[in-house]
Parts: sequence; structure tokens; C-alpha cells
Amino acid sequence: MRVGFGYDVHRLEPGRPLVLGGVAIPFSHGLRGHSDADVLTHAVCDALLGAAGLGDIGEHFPDSDPRLEGISSLELLARTCRQVAQAGYRIVNLDATVVAQAPRIAPHREAMRQRLAAAAGIDAACMNVKATTTEGLGPAGRGEGISAYCVALIAAHRP
Ligand code: MG
Repeated sequence: MRVGFGYDVHRLEPGRPLVLGGVAIPFSHGLRGHSDADVLTHAVCDALLGAAGLGDIGEHFPDSDPRLEGISSLELLARTCRQVAQAGYRIVNLDATVVAQAPRIAPHREAMRQRLAAAAGIDAACMNVKATTTEGLGPAGRGEGISAYCVALIAAHRP
């Protein structure tokens, strides 16, 4: 068994679409980034790459690559999972936390879990999404951005 950790943060800007865990959430602001800036999915990718010893998301999907502009991060997650499988591992479970003062994440949490699990090719029971605010503290509390954390557990295909 191997464990990996992922962390990401993106800045919020007015008028951009907000996508978290592959779910479009109605909100006045969205996240800035080269892809769809889905900070939650990026943290999941990084946790998986870390667990498999495959580097990080910036190395695999550089923001200088014009083919990745505006791409759905669920596609990046699917590609990440193929690489993890090729490296000889299967996903045991993924546990992620979104840190956002607004909007409220809870109503969308189940949809995020389903989308992420589908993109990763795992049972939804092996994917968990949590959310918290920072009680108004720090950059997330001031609504300047949204961050996400994820831990991944993977195991060798054959023991
Ligand atoms: Mg990112």
C-alpha cells in the first residue's frame, strides 16, 4: 500500500464559471486557471501521482500546453488514473476536503463524489468529498480563493 497527498489553491475572480469536482456550481465568481481550474480535482490528481511516485500535476499537464487550455479536469483525472494503473497500482480510496467560505459546498458534495469516482473508474464508496470554511479567516475566508486537499491510498495490482 502507498499513500499520497495532494494540495491545490486557485484564485477566485468575478464572472468565471466555478467547477469543483467536475460539478458546475452557480456562483458570482469562478476559479482562475489554464484548465477549468477545478481545484478539487487537481488535488485528487496530485494525491494519486504522489502515491504512485509519479511527480506532480504540473509536470504531467503543464499550463504552458495550449492543448490543455480550458480542458475539463475530470479528463486530467482520468489520464492520471491510467498512468497510475500503468505504473502497477489500483486505487483503494480517495478522501478530499474543499476549503471555501462560499458558495455552500454541501448541496453539491454527492454530485462531486459521483463525478470524481466515475472519472477515476472507482466505486463511489471509495471516493469521499468533505468541505469546510475557515470561519472567515485567511485568504479563503476573505473569498480570495478556494483550496483543496486530498489523500490517496493505492495498492499494487498483484501483491
Ligand atoms: Mg491547480
